[in-house]
Amino acid sequence: MDGKRLSIEANIEVPEEAEGVLAHGADGIGLFRSEFLFIQPNRFPTEEEQLAAYTTVLTAMGRRAVTIRTLDLGGDKVMPGYHFAPDSNPLLGWRAIRFCLARPEVLKTQLRALLRASVHGSLRIMFPLISGQGELDRIAEIMAEVKGDLTREGRPFRADVPTGIMIEVPSAALTSDILAARADFFSIGTNDLIQYTLAVDRGNEKVAYLYEPFHPGVLRLIRMTIENAHARGIPVGLCGELAGDPLATVVLLGLGLDSFSMGPIGIPLIKRIVRSVGSMEAEAFVRSLTPMKSGLEIEHAVRGWMEDRLDFSSW
Ligand code: PEP
Ligand code: MG
Repeated sequence: MDGKRLSIEANIEVPEEAEGVLAHGADGIGLFRSEFLFIQPNRFPTEEEQLAAYTTVLTAMGRRAVTIRTLDLGGDKVMPGYHFAPDSNPLLGWRAIRFCLARPEVLKTQLRALLRASVHGSLRIMFPLISGQGELDRIAEIMAEVKGDLTREGRPFRADVPTGIMIEVPSAALTSDILAARADFFSIGTNDLIQYTLAVDRGNEKVAYLYEPFHPGVLRLIRMTIENAHARGIPVGLCGELAGDPLATVVLLGLGLDSFSMGPIGIPLIKRIVRSVGSMEAEAFVRSLTPMKSGLEIEHAVRGWMEDRLDFSSW
């Protein structure tokens, strides 16, 4: 990629993975799913346990950015022994930030551990499943409270830790101009964004044929999110499976994405593609997709471009 500074980062789920991601060439960690810490029967991890885990990751990554997502429980992520109220539709129910805001002591403990760990590296904190500004207001109150407590206790932390939000709900993408004023960065979670935009349960094989990352409705939301973020001067990453799909790379580059985060194994290939595609070329290609009417038509065009433009036989 010419000129533009792009970052290709790793998704991890346990702290021990952090060491290995450097060997795969990761520029940082774009998504640390903190849920693993909470997957233990009948209790939540203490502040000290969380502090140790976050410190391990930050220390391993040195000056590279580490984006840690606050607890994303519920929906498709269930914890043994923890009994959620039986939502009739868990994917639309009490999950992720909704759960944390209803149980603020859980969020406060996690934020205390994160802020205390922040002195060990380059931390960014990210909130999942944001659907609108009201949640950000509540998060800001809790964050201010936690920072006040740590200051009073004389515990060191970095006061300027960037906080960002995941764009996973269509309403967040559609109001990304509003939300961009309240975030230091966006990260598009396409696994959920596609699911909610197309009303397709991402784990249900019967409707898997409708789960189309290149659906014009999905691409419009991604475009809107990136444009609104850039208009406010904040960067946008993408940390869903789509980031590691070689077919999507040129499209995401052409839409102006700033960073990709994926399973570490996918990094070398995506880096090679990124290096071999010019930004003007990617933008022009994406413009050529605009009149297309279906995900299938767009996917077909992308495959054709990849075959013409990138000779994988020599890779
Ligand atoms: C996403 O939704 O794209 C995402 C990265 O979050 P998760 O897969 O953990 O829901
Ligand atoms: Mg998600």
